[in-house]
Amino acid sequence: MYGLGLAKGLMITLKNLTRKPFTIQYPEERVSQHPRFRGEEFGWYEERCTGCASCAKYCPLGIIKIVTSPSGTAKPQGDKYNLEVFDIDIGRCMFCGLCVEACPYDALFMGSGFERGRYARSELVIGIDELRQAEKRPSTWFRPQLENAGYSPHDGPPLSWKEVGREQNRWHQHEKSGARINRADIGEGRSSSAES
Ligand code: SF4
Ligand code: SF4
Repeated sequence: MYGLGLAKGLMITLKNLTRKPFTIQYPEERVSQHPRFRGEEFGWYEERCTGCASCAKYCPLGIIKIVTSPSGTAKPQGDKYNLEVFDIDIGRCMFCGLCVEACPYDALFMGSGFERGRYARSELVIGIDELRQAEKRPSTWFRPQLENAGYSPHDGPPLSWKEVGREQNRWHQHEKSGARINRADIGEGRSSSAES
């Protein structure tokens, strides 16, 4: 019958008028994020990083750039690397987390941020200084112990590496029990390189 479709359409409109809206007035209002959300700022624990570049090799997009040089600080042990460049181009990142999964030393974590609009793509590259300075509030993604403990990267405190490492790793258990692996000379190596 002519006009029936119009009536049905109006009924749907009326129904939706009384329905609670799904949308919110961002940024004044915010939806709560899941603690496993994989965001942009990355958490990097320099004291754990050996410069092995596994994260860069496993990144399917090739957007992590790592440059190292022998530090000359631990020759009896075969030496260690100075990290000179650690760039992550988050403008092209798809937040798959494979770099975090690939890190054998628990040095890299996903972050939780998502508000990083910029006018130039070049400003979306996170450099080593920003990684150093960023607060360590890792996403609980790939860290079941953090999720089990109810940690929230959005309002929880910054965490030290001892609180975030994978429990099953032997070196983590050793560090938690007090037998900490001494990596203090990483910083020493960096300064000696800068002076030379
Ligand atoms: S999250 Fe994925 S795309 Fe982004 S840097 Fe890591 S491996 Fe690459
Ligand atoms: S973050 Fe992990 S995988 Fe990447 S260079 Fe450092 S130790 Fe290696």
